[in-house]
Amino acid sequence: MPGDPYDTPAMRQFTAFKREHPGCVLFFRMGDFYELFGDDAVMVSKALGLTLTERTKGMPMAGVPYHQLETYLRRAIDRGFRVAVADQVQDPREAKGVVERAVTRVVTPGTLVDESLLDSSEACAVAAISLEEQTADAAIADLSTGAVELRSGTPEEVADALSARGVRELIHGGDDDAVPRLRSLLAPDATALTAGDPTAFDARRAPELVMKRYGVQTLDGFGLDASDPVLGPLAALLEYLARTQAVDAAPLDDAPTSGSEFATQRRTLAHLRPPTRASEEGLCVLDAVSRRALEVERVIRAEPGTGAMEGALLGIFLEPRDGSGSVVRTPMGRRLLRARLLAPLADVDAIRGRQDEVAVMLEDTRLAAAVGGHLGGIQDVERIAGRIALGRATPRDLVALARSCEAAAGLCAEVHGARPLSAIESRLRESLVEAAPLAGSIAALCVDEAPATLRQGGLIRDGVDAELDEARALQRDAGEWLADYQARLDEAHDLPGMKVGFNKVFGYYIELPAAQARRAPDAFTRKQTLKNAERYITPELKTFEEKVSTAEARALARERELFQRLLLEAAGCVRELQSLASAVAALDVSAGLAEKARRRGWVRPEVVDRPVLEIEAGRHPVLDETLGDRFVPNGVSLGGSDAHLSLITGPNMAGKSTFIRQVALLAVLASAGGFVPAERATIGVCDRIFTRVGADDALHRGQSTFMVEMAETAAILNGATPRSLVILDEIGRGTSTLDGLSLAWAIAERLGEPGAPRALFATHYHELTELAERDPASVKNLHVAARVWRDEIVFLHEIKPGAAEGSYGVHVAKLAGIPASVTDRASEILESLRVEHAQLSGQQARTPAPPGSGDQMALFTEFVPHPAVDRLRELKLDALSPLEAFDELRRLLDLAERAE
Ligand code: ADP
Ligand code: MG
Repeated sequence: MPGDPYDTPAMRQFTAFKREHPGCVLFFRMGDFYELFGDDAVMVSKALGLTLTERTKGMPMAGVPYHQLETYLRRAIDRGFRVAVADQVQDPREAKGVVERAVTRVVTPGTLVDESLLDSSEACAVAAISLEEQTADAAIADLSTGAVELRSGTPEEVADALSARGVRELIHGGDDDAVPRLRSLLAPDATALTAGDPTAFDARRAPELVMKRYGVQTLDGFGLDASDPVLGPLAALLEYLARTQAVDAAPLDDAPTSGSEFATQRRTLAHLRPPTRASEEGLCVLDAVSRRALEVERVIRAEPGTGAMEGALLGIFLEPRDGSGSVVRTPMGRRLLRARLLAPLADVDAIRGRQDEVAVMLEDTRLAAAVGGHLGGIQDVERIAGRIALGRATPRDLVALARSCEAAAGLCAEVHGARPLSAIESRLRESLVEAAPLAGSIAALCVDEAPATLRQGGLIRDGVDAELDEARALQRDAGEWLADYQARLDEAHDLPGMKVGFNKVFGYYIELPAAQARRAPDAFTRKQTLKNAERYITPELKTFEEKVSTAEARALARERELFQRLLLEAAGCVRELQSLASAVAALDVSAGLAEKARRRGWVRPEVVDRPVLEIEAGRHPVLDETLGDRFVPNGVSLGGSDAHLSLITGPNMAGKSTFIRQVALLAVLASAGGFVPAERATIGVCDRIFTRVGADDALHRGQSTFMVEMAETAAILNGATPRSLVILDEIGRGTSTLDGLSLAWAIAERLGEPGAPRALFATHYHELTELAERDPASVKNLHVAARVWRDEIVFLHEIKPGAAEGSYGVHVAKLAGIPASVTDRASEILESLRVEHAQLSGQQARTPAPPGSGDQMALFTEFVPHPAVDRLRELKLDALSPLEAFDELRRLLDLAERAE
């Protein structure tokens, strides 16, 4: 069709690539730009703020300079785009018609491996899911590290697992109905949804695909049988990875492929580890809501990507406020700490094993210092191993790998003899059997300061390869040879003004001034005539020229060859490198936890298998650091001989929320195998730690907050066991007072039953404190102490037994700057309401009858009885004269009107 802007040779390439990579926007290399066309151009220019132009009429276009590709890729990925990059794969000078192009890279939010696109302390994973009404199955892979995990369960459980693993991209079977459901399941997390190959999800084909991708004959080794529904997602995931990673064309040398050298590298998925099935057995489950509420990874109100770790539990380890730097030193250590805090343990022995590792490092300061020193020299071996397998390793990766292996060998020697570390030591030792010789080869061949890319060479040392040395010597010695040649020419011929030179277009030449030209010897062949001079070439100079110009190319080619040899050797021990990385990470985390304990005076909690929780002088791990001496330590005791439910009352701003979160955070730290900020702690393992924050306190996205609050609370009431720990903060606030109170009451009542989980419930519903009086063995009242001093409220932040006396709301308002005239009026109103309330309720029981007493509705009829009714009850009708009766009737009417 003439005039169709897409009907040109280049645009036909574009269209073909778009078809091969559905769902991707295409960055198409043209000259010094990567261009986007059509809808891609419109969408991406809008999202990234690029200028939108037109290539030809009716074809939108936007472009980014080729050397800024990484920056724009990162921004595109952050906004959820999947990107295919098409490069020129032929030297444009050699092209007959349109230059050959190919897709050299597919980058998606969940499959990042390049250092420039990744955050070193965060996981980056991709998953495939199949979603049924009641169940879901998912396969999760971290391509940069090679970990593959399977997860089955209720849709909510699987969604939790996905968000805990840092899944940024979710592959689904392409069923349109599933998309809104997936969105709502994963709503709070910015996860890109991608339709996968529906046939890969097919249960009949899946087992075969999985076996093929892993190169195995049977699934038995994975503990899977062919009918397992998780095979569909696993197959779809492997297919997706193969499709996005197996782009086997190589761009030309000047393509900025973040310095990667995949022209010479193998591209395989060989580093993917066998799938492991995640189960909750032995784990302490923190569901997604609890993780957010406890601010384990990031604070709730932080904007994505803006120092969100500050104020979060993870932040005190990785970004301490005192500027002393992360206590965990390697990228894989930082990722492991995050993973351990998000998925702590519920197994006493496993926890104690980790504690032993921390303890030995805390006690032996010399060992800790030496370990810290070695760890400081270890780089991201785990992800480098992934890049090696995927053919995206850079020269710097290799050199970093060698140094890291050397440091790991030092580490291995250092921990020798420290018994709690023997498991780590033997893992280090075993992996070093293969890794150390590799490091030796790399160190022997490569310079210490590796270049970012091999484009200009300079990776391989002088003196290690004769061929390379010769080629380099030729280049280097060219100047010297020319000077020498000139001297020889001068000696042989008497030609004043003769000089040897070089020019880019014509190469080497001998130049004679025009006046000398007719005296040129026979061996001189004329090459070029200038205004005042003639230029010649000789056979000797010609030979030299050829040698020099090929020398450069030869040196580069030889360097590539040697680099590739090293990569092949490295690709042969990817498994060992992964194992090395995981041993280093484990040691790093223990060392970091010990370091924290040393700096902040944390203690080893006694971890037991009973549902108890005792903390003496505990501190909130984050506030303790921000407030320093001003932080008031507090203790608690739940379970055992004590009540398992504590109700915490006290004025606003007293410290209720802080206190109950502190308890949960200490339980998380202890379950993760860490030490805790307290004077002493005994913590019974928890199978789940639930944390719910009432609607007013929580940040919910666009849903009916009360509905969310109740749904979240329902999950607790349905899912908690006697081994769980439940933290409720102001539940019941999102609705009217009476509704809220009754719900809070019923929930507290349920949590107070024998056999219910350990629980802390902070509430402003003072009425709830009644529960403790009824069943002191199960329910206990605590309050946060506050004093009113000269009509000002002073918060003591001290947790004390018993219920709070009042809520001091007016005092708090005063503190907040409400004008005195208003707070004074509020005090008046409060006083009159109190009087009225007291008159109204009289001496009647103000609280609901216990459940099962057949009087469930008593709560509000008795709680706010109509004063007229009270008065009627008190009437002694027999003793009244008709006149008095009439008076009484008038009074009753009066009362009825007033109380309306
Ligand atoms: P509440 O939930 O009772 O309204 P918060 O727990 O939100 O109160 O605490 C309010 C403020 O009081 C916190 O921001 C903190 O600065 C301070 N605070 C809380 N607990 C303590 C404590 N134990 N020591 C010192 N300051 C505290
Ligand atoms: Mg609060």
